[in-house]
This record gives sequence, C-alpha cells and structure tokens, in this order.
Amino acid sequence: MKFALIDNNRVEAKSGLIAICPGCSKSVIPKCGEQRVHHWAHSRGKMCDSWWESETEWHRNWKSKFPIEWQEGFLVDDKTGEMHIADIRTDKGLVIEFQHSHINLLERSSRESFYRDLSWVVDGTRLKRDYPRFLKGKESFRTIKKGIYSVIDPEECFPSSWLESSVPVLFDFNDTYSQLINHSKQHLLYCLFPVRVDRNAIVAEITVNAFVNKVISGEWTTRTRQFISDIIQVDKEMREQYEGQKRIEENLMFRKFMGLNRGRRSRQF
Ligand SMILES: [Zn+2]
Repeated sequence: MKFALIDNNRVEAKSGLIAICPGCSKSVIPKCGEQRVHHWAHSRGKMCDSWWESETEWHRNWKSKFPIEWQEGFLVDDKTGEMHIADIRTDKGLVIEFQHSHINLLERSSRESFYRDLSWVVDGTRLKRDYPRFLKGKESFRTIKKGIYSVIDPEECFPSSWLESSVPVLFDFNDTYSQLINHSKQHLLYCLFPVRVDRNAIVAEITVNAFVNKVISGEWTTRTRQFISDIIQVDKEMREQYEGQKRIEENLMFRKFMGLNRGRRSRQF
C-alpha cells in the first residue's frame, strides 16, 4: 500500500514509522528497500485485500496522475462485509484498476461485479511478445473514424484474459511506436470496449492525458456509456438492414422461382 494512517492522516511509507491499515485497522510497517517501491506491509499475516498485487513503478506512476484522496479507496460490501482497495476511486464512484500481473477470469469478473463502475488499465509491457503481437494485429484494424477501429480478430492483438471483460480495458503498451509516428511525447492507450459489432471488437486510441483528464472531469463514465450505447444501436441497425436485405433477396428469389417477375405463368404444383 502507498498510504497508511498515522493519527488519522494518510502517510506514505518511511523508515521508522508505524501506522495503521485504513482497511483492517491492523498495524503496518514501512518497507523501504531498494528492490521494490516503498510501501506499507501488514506486520503480521497477509494483506487484508485478497486481490492486492505487489506494486511496481508502473502502478505508482499511474496512481500519481490522480488526486491523492482518490488513490487507494477502500470499499466494503454492505451485505457481505467483503473489503477491497480500489487503486483509484473517484468522487463519482468510478474505479480505475491498474493491472500488471496476469489475472484469472474468475477474479477479473469478480472485481468487475464488485466495483460495478470500473475501467481497467493493463500493463501491456509485462510480456515481451504482447506489444509486437499488438502492432502486427493493428495492421488489420479497420478505421471507423479517426482513432476508432473495428477489429476482426481481437484475440490476435490482446491477451485472452481481457477479451470478454464487461468493462472498458485500456492497454498501456508504453506505445513508443505511435510516439515516433506522431512525433508526440505522449504514448497512446488502446481501449477495448465491452461490445461487438457483427462480432468485431471496437478499439479506440486515447492519449494518457486525455484519459486522465476525462476521469478527473467525471466525463469518462458518461462518455464511454454513451459510446457503447451508440455502438449497440449501430449494430442493431446493421442487423436490421441485413435482415431486411436478406428478406428482399429471399423474396426476389422466391418470385424468380415462381416465375412471377417475368410475366410467365406462375409455377403451380
Ligand atoms: Zn489491512
């Protein structure tokens, strides 16, 4: 954990201090070595949040882009008493989770149900093969409009554990390639939306700054929900169009079969 309580104040780990875990109220001790980022650890036993993963610089860099009071928000389920720490929890209740390690499907869906209004930011640099695979897959992205793509084979681009996520998943590949192409210092995130159009995935590019700003301004949830509902509507219209076209074609074929269009005598049984 980045923060623990001393006299009810949130403080970062520093040698010599002893503090209280804001979740379980047990004592925590500072770990300020060379190997890992400085953090608080429970002095006895395990971390009280079973979903907690050891933090890396990548986690800390992301967290620090948001207001301190939103970082490490403790959430308790009123009915079950289950308690977890959200990496970021905004004043509007949006949770952003930064995921570096592999996550199994069960835990991913449990976290999505628990937090409800959630977006993931996934460290796409953990496995060396992921970024080259993404760049190769990106060659077959079809542009819908600037920065928004339809992806026919999302499994060729993204790690499989995220494909069926029920919430937006933003992949952070530390995308140096697009930085180079766009002459930009900002790398792009690729947001995989939890929706399909005719089985194609929908992916949007967004800069880190734009994402952070939209979360801070409170627009992220409303914008993404609106975007997803627009996509569902487009998909519905396309299906209706396809069904309508299919009906016309079937009707034409039927008329042709019956000889109705040629002024000939209709077929009769
Ligand atoms: Zn605790």
